[in-house]
Amino acid sequence: MNFHVLTLFPEMIENGMNTSITGRAIAKGLLSLEAINIRDFAFNKHQKVDDYTYGGGAGMLMQAEPVYLAYESIASHTAKKPRVVYVTPQGQVFNQNMAREMATEEDLIFLCGHYEGIDERVLEEIVTDYVSIGDYVLTGGELPAMVMMDSISRMVPGVLNNQESGETESFAGNLLEYPQYSRPEEWHGKKVPEVLMSGHHANIEKWRREQSILRTVQRRPDLLKKADLTNKEWNYVRQLRKQMKEEEEQTK
Ligand code: SAM
Repeated sequence: MNFHVLTLFPEMIENGMNTSITGRAIAKGLLSLEAINIRDFAFNKHQKVDDYTYGGGAGMLMQAEPVYLAYESIASHTAKKPRVVYVTPQGQVFNQNMAREMATEEDLIFLCGHYEGIDERVLEEIVTDYVSIGDYVLTGGELPAMVMMDSISRMVPGVLNNQESGETESFAGNLLEYPQYSRPEEWHGKKVPEVLMSGHHANIEKWRREQSILRTVQRRPDLLKKADLTNKEWNYVRQLRKQMKEEEEQTK
């Protein structure tokens, strides 16, 4: 996977991505990272990349030409026309399925906006995907691009070692992950659930599955619509919902 990031702050991308698991994957050559400074493609005296918006209004806008030239500097040497993700609060909200799907690309370009955003005309010409990390507005696209690259990286074979395996994590099968515990066996008077220390694998798996369902019902019931559950598990969901409703009514 080759990540190319068009940004006004390449050092922010490099510092973030060269850390921890993604940093190790870059060092091993499983990922490559190229942060391109859009300012290097502004051929004016002060390398200015922004200007006022036509029609008035507060704030500055990133101009089309430097963004386009920065894009061309990558697209001119990739095997096929690369996918360009513009990170924007106006995009589709990022999720685990999108990360999994994007991880199959050979090259991905992330375009990071700043100020009021980017001149619409260049977006129309180069952008293939408009993606947001949530319904709030940030000052720039660098953090969203790093959020997406981090999550995509975890889907690239070899990036996670066995201990960090992502297979049983939250969102796998549209369920949240079960609670987990490490040593000591007792902390602040709270004991690790007995079943986890029994060494009985089938019982541990059963407990974990039930806990995953319970947690999803409690915290993200919206996910359940797409969850792959057996009839028995749907009965368990109904039972949990009934129980929660009764508890809610008791506290009224
Ligand atoms: N004027 C723009 C609007 O209202 O849609 C917001 C511009 S924002 C201040 C500057 C840049 O930050 C955007 O161009 C985008 O790249 C990035 N950004 C801000 N919030 C984001 C979000 N929730 N998801 C992805 N990118 C975001």
